[in-house]
Amino acid sequence: MKSLENSLAFAQHQDDADELSSFRNRFHIPLHHGKPCIYFCGNSLGLQPKKTAEYVNQELKDWAELGVEGHFKKDTGWFAYHELLRKPIANLVGAKPLEVVVMNHLTVNLHLLMVSFYRPTETRYKIICEGGAFPSDRYALQSQIKFHGYDPTDALVELQPSEGEEIIRHEDILKAIADCGDSLALVMFGGVHYFTGQVLDMSSITKAAHAVGAYAGFDLAHAMGNIKMSLHDWDVDFAAWCSYKYLNGGPGTVGGIYVHERHATNKELPRFAGWWGNDPAVRFKMPHQFVPVATADSWQLSNAPILPMAALRASLELFEEAGINRLTTKSLALTTYLLFVIRNVLTKKNMEDLIQILTPFESQKSGCQLSLQFSVNGRAIFDHITNAGVIADWREPDQEGRGSGVIRIAPVPLYNSFEDVFNFGELLKGAI
Ligand SMILES: *Cc1c(COP(=O)(O)O)cnc(C)c1O
Repeated sequence: MKSLENSLAFAQHQDDADELSSFRNRFHIPLHHGKPCIYFCGNSLGLQPKKTAEYVNQELKDWAELGVEGHFKKDTGWFAYHELLRKPIANLVGAKPLEVVVMNHLTVNLHLLMVSFYRPTETRYKIICEGGAFPSDRYALQSQIKFHGYDPTDALVELQPSEGEEIIRHEDILKAIADCGDSLALVMFGGVHYFTGQVLDMSSITKAAHAVGAYAGFDLAHAMGNIKMSLHDWDVDFAAWCSYKYLNGGPGTVGGIYVHERHATNKELPRFAGWWGNDPAVRFKMPHQFVPVATADSWQLSNAPILPMAALRASLELFEEAGINRLTTKSLALTTYLLFVIRNVLTKKNMEDLIQILTPFESQKSGCQLSLQFSVNGRAIFDHITNAGVIADWREPDQEGRGSGVIRIAPVPLYNSFEDVFNFGELLKGAI
């Protein structure tokens, strides 16, 4: 790569050379005092594509004009609306189309999947997850364990980084899985850690889980639309995600699941049932017995929420057009530049110790988020850049009280620019 420069001219040159730069114009960028803000919060809520209103309004219009007949209208009938999302979603997670379906919300889906993939026995009942997991995931795991009559303090193994380190080493994850051995029922990690931005090697974790007879599932909240995945080839058993972060589906929009083909086609696998999981061929015949369709769709319970799906569809079209390969290539360049700019600012200010980058970005070379831990004045610096037009995410210091808080920033390749990164650096410099 040619050498980087912390200058406006350099950043603009990068944008000119970026074949994805025009996608930015297809989003609404929030304004700050009449100017586009620096939106680095796509890891929390992605921006709204301009097409979203059109797609949602179309369904409102069809509802007004067609009433219930809208279920069977041409092309976008609500009965099969989720089919429109299947291929783009399968492409993003690296799955066969039959292995994915858009439904419900992330935590709901984790519970539904654990009905199938966490069925503990007296000897095999443990779950391994990351320490410092997102609270909702931890509550879900704890409550599943208690629901089956086990004790989370014994059954839930939360892996912590080694003393003095910020992230869990892969070899320690693999060793913990092997050590648990026959007592391990399930391994469940975030594919990308929501706090540190660490990208996990889902393939080797899955292999290690299978080697001891456990299932491997992943929460893809921060992986979906952010990193390239091959869930099918990695042999991952199941996964779930939300669609309002990198997928830009809108606040609280509908999430989705992946179930590996060998489970999705296994009609004997226990699951909770509802009429929408029935084989569509018989769904409206209302059979007395549940007839699961031999795809991930059989985990659906209720009929599909069309309006959020219409919003999601607008964004997924952009992902299809840009392609995950081009997006991850740009993402690597953009976050590499962000890291360079931050280091350059700190060096110029002679303040290298002010910020510790928790994200192991240089070794993983994927995922767009950087988590900046401040040694002092974190909150004041965050407030300063916020007032200057940066939208980022603030986290209070951890329970051990290290540092003075963490700012998570995520330059998103679909709508952030190199100029955004340069401008961020200038505001950071001013704040320091
Ligand atoms: C964002 C996020 C959630 C949110 O869960 P919902 O059920 O969609 O509210 C859960 N887990 C992780 C790791 C997240 O990042």
